[in-house]
Amino acid sequence: MSGDPTVAALLDEAAARLGAGGAVAPGPDLDAQLLLAYSLGVTRVRLKSHPETVVAAAAARRFRELLQRRVRGEPVAYLTGIRDFWSLPLAVTPAVLVPRPETELLVERALALHAGAGARVADLGTGSGAIALALAAERPDWQLVATDLSAAALAVARANAAALGLTGVEFRQGDWFAPLAAGRFDLLISNPPYVAGDDPALAALAFEPRAALTPGPDALACLRLLAQGAPRHLVRGGWLLLEHGTDQGEAVRRELVLAGFSHVRSQRDLAGHERMTEGQHDQI
Ligand code: GLN
Repeated sequence: MSGDPTVAALLDEAAARLGAGGAVAPGPDLDAQLLLAYSLGVTRVRLKSHPETVVAAAAARRFRELLQRRVRGEPVAYLTGIRDFWSLPLAVTPAVLVPRPETELLVERALALHAGAGARVADLGTGSGAIALALAAERPDWQLVATDLSAAALAVARANAAALGLTGVEFRQGDWFAPLAAGRFDLLISNPPYVAGDDPALAALAFEPRAALTPGPDALACLRLLAQGAPRHLVRGGWLLLEHGTDQGEAVRRELVLAGFSHVRSQRDLAGHERMTEGQHDQI
């Protein structure tokens, strides 16, 4: 008889270790499944349908090594190198923020706000390319520009575009509006850093690029800069869409109103939190 563990036993072991950690909850069961499926090179569905499968010692060792790293706080997406966003499997590395489900709200709003063909759209601070690539997949007729200050991040985004065959996105390196030059757009979209530099929440995000998470002491610094600069890069009737923290809706609405935007309103994510704010540029 083999002493090697079964799929079911490894999943139980992992859920117990991840659940006990507290800090890495929620989702110990899902994390365990993603890591075991990755270690074995099979789908999660296969794990569920064949829990009695005996796992060879080498694969079990690989799995337990990943589990140990997960217990120490590394995001599953960095361990497996992949994260689903919208309809897309995106490659991710520690050079980019792990795409979050709530950021899909920006994609949803962009698609709702501009129905027309040929829209000019920029995703500022694209990271893994999540927003721009999701839009490219939905609207192959749109002209998409995706920017990032980080060359390492842009390399990840470009690789994702190539792997997914989404050739329509133009990637440009630079700080916020700089890569847009004098261009004007129908939609400007950004998920900028918006966590205050002294926010204790950053401790749990220590494996992700700090520059993608926090602008420094003033959590609103990038959001404000984007609101103030956007009118010069939007056509009349164009929209600015900004993701922000759950307690920043009121402040971001104020910034958009001060910058001259109309129809300023926030939208809630699936957890019911104000997660993004949009406004229309209707001046010349
Ligand atoms: N939503 C992320 C978090 O709080 C922060 C992302 C960001 O700063 N843009 O985990």
